[in-house]
Amino acid sequence: MAGADATPELGPERLATLRALADALIPEAGDLPSAGAADPDGRWLARTLAARPELCGELGRVLGGGAEREPATETRRLFAEDRPGFDALAAVVAGSYYLNVKVRRRIGYPGQGKRPPYPDEAEYDLRDGLLDPVLARTPPAHEEPGPPPDDGPPLPRAGDGDRADVLVIGAGASGAVVARRLAAAGFRVVCLEQGDWCNPSDFPGDKPEFELLIERRWSPDPNVRALPADYPCENSGTDVAPVMFNAVGGSTIHFGAQWSRMRPSDFRTRTREGVADDWPLSYAELRPFYERMERWLGVSGLAGDPLYPPGPAPPLPPLPIGAIGRKAAEGMNRLGWHWWPASHVIASVEHEHQAQCERTGTCMWGCPKGAKGSTDLTIWPEAQRLGARLVTGARVREITVDARGLATGAVYVDRKGTEHRQQADVVVLAANGVGTARLLLLSSSSRFPDGLANSSGLVGKRLMLHPYMSVLGIYDEPLESWLGPWGTQLLSLQFADTDESRGFPRGAQWDVMPIGGPLLALARYDGLPYNERWGPAVHRLVQRTLGRAFDWGVGIEDLPHERNTVTLDSALTDSDGIPAPRISFRIDAEMRANLDWQLARAREAHEAAGAIDTVVTDWSAWGWHLLGTARMGDDPGTSVIDRWGCAHEVPNLYVVDGSAFVTSGPQPPTATICANALRVADHLVRRAGGQRAPA
Ligand SMILES: Cc1cc2nc3c(=O)[nH]c(=O)nc-3n(C[C@H](O)[C@H](O)[C@H](O)COP(=O)(O)OP(=O)(O)OC[C@H]3O[C@@H](n4cnc5c(N)ncnc54)[C@H](O)[C@@H]3O)c2cc1C
Ligand code: SF4
Repeated sequence: MAGADATPELGPERLATLRALADALIPEAGDLPSAGAADPDGRWLARTLAARPELCGELGRVLGGGAEREPATETRRLFAEDRPGFDALAAVVAGSYYLNVKVRRRIGYPGQGKRPPYPDEAEYDLRDGLLDPVLARTPPAHEEPGPPPDDGPPLPRAGDGDRADVLVIGAGASGAVVARRLAAAGFRVVCLEQGDWCNPSDFPGDKPEFELLIERRWSPDPNVRALPADYPCENSGTDVAPVMFNAVGGSTIHFGAQWSRMRPSDFRTRTREGVADDWPLSYAELRPFYERMERWLGVSGLAGDPLYPPGPAPPLPPLPIGAIGRKAAEGMNRLGWHWWPASHVIASVEHEHQAQCERTGTCMWGCPKGAKGSTDLTIWPEAQRLGARLVTGARVREITVDARGLATGAVYVDRKGTEHRQQADVVVLAANGVGTARLLLLSSSSRFPDGLANSSGLVGKRLMLHPYMSVLGIYDEPLESWLGPWGTQLLSLQFADTDESRGFPRGAQWDVMPIGGPLLALARYDGLPYNERWGPAVHRLVQRTLGRAFDWGVGIEDLPHERNTVTLDSALTDSDGIPAPRISFRIDAEMRANLDWQLARAREAHEAAGAIDTVVTDWSAWGWHLLGTARMGDDPGTSVIDRWGCAHEVPNLYVVDGSAFVTSGPQPPTATICANALRVADHLVRRAGGQRAPA
């Protein structure tokens, strides 16, 4: 496996030990070489350690102690007694082995690669009337959409100087939308973003080391990445921890780009089902903004879903559902359950700034092809052209207020740790469901002792995270299940609403997901005993899973509970010494019942499609959608912001990110976050004259 030239720092003795242990973990099988024999000059080992340098220390420790023992005994001992050491060894051995192009060829894995859709492939996937059973359903009655509000005249630009008309904090999804809309209306917009621009050539998706790189540098978990732009989250007391990205484009750099509106009924759970609270606004008010966002972003999708609100077809044709989507759909049709090809902010054909999607299936770690509509690509270039000023490497530590309780701007720290002040007439928070609550709590003062705009006590409370699990279905046929988008090939809203007979409120959206390459396939079996996971078993697991399995993912709608919170930690800080958020979120009995019930149905869906086996994967430690921590409402006693996103107590402070959500809906939230941000920006254009803080 390892040659002294490529990895001199391990030394010849440790390299010899590594080769022996590697052979025990991945032995020869048929035309597949053992892991030791597959890498005679250490080339793949060197690349693996370059991609995962943090493993070197642990690996050196393990190899230093195991030279005298018989290799198979030593790997078993490590597995049983030294799990961190074993995991480092296994990650390096399997990583090097499956990087090897000859091994890849023999197991039939082309890498995440490149496979542009044929122009008619979406139609081909849906051939033979696959959608007919779904179309035969009676669509539910949808609320009649009302007229969009009148925009009113644009405001004139303010005078010269550093003062902004509007300061936006956070350059992710919602911040980009607000900045572009207000810049187009002539406002002087400054946006402060703690992260930097991403360079698509850095994204891991088109690199052979993809599966290694996503474990650390490109993890969606800020605590694992720990990049200078990240702030840590204190997660020790939580069932679910937030995932996000901190850069221009925010979490849309990582998002799967699946694009779903909430349905009219999702805004009315209290009225319709006696559950949680109604939103102060209706679907009808948001509908024009959903449509405008879909045109801005070039959403791809297929019109006609009977369970989705009616409206114009998405501007771009749908992405292909692929072999895994077709397989899943066949099972759903047998059961008579709803499914539909998913919509995405991914270019199915070349579109404005976006290239055509090449189906590399790596969307959740940045799109290296420039096909996914992260807002750094789709919105910021236009916002800047229109005059918005984007300051990167600018971490806001506090929103400032004057004696009358009006926001006056923010204090931020640059990359060198130097503090600056940005004055503004209006402050818009777009720092996501964790970052916005954190900033409001950080901005306490004698006037606002419990945090800015927090007399309701609800800032940071009612956190919703959409707990997510999946059922992997394994099939006895090749399905190319590494192909993208990743994202969602198709979705189901069959079990999205409350059915009292199930014993829990609300439901879930289901998504068909690809599973990636051999390392991600093997990771599904991490809970197995040594004998079933390592040695000859490795080859059996890869052979039966790679390219032949896909997930039915289940993201439940969690309800808002005041016990689920973002607070400030008393000890942990970010690299600028600013207190970090502490996350506390419990998966309660109702959420657990919802997850268990949905997983049982997802297993049935796989069985109906012909799966030969199923494996439940628990992803619920990650919260993908950060919602609810500055709740919108009409009553200042029970909400933080009003229906226009304006803080009840601070009339020139707005919140436009997912913090505003009253309930979480079963869908991924970004279509609703962006539509609402655009609605608030339109409102600011109409109203800002009356709401600006005097200079
Ligand atoms: C792995 C993953 C997959 C996802 N998949 C989907 C999907 O398929 N569909 C979907 O709808 N949604 C998906 N999401 C969620 C989606 O990314 C978010 O809903 C969306 O990006 C939220 O937008 P936002 O504006 O609220 O916050 P963000 O996009 O998170 O932006 C917040 C920005 O604020 C900045 N910021 C925070 N604090 C400060 C500070 N103190 N000073 C300066 N800047 C600050 C951050 O650096 C960040 O750039 C996914 C998320 C993840 C992580
Ligand atoms: S959008 Fe996703 S599947 Fe398409 S090219 Fe980009 S990363 Fe690959």
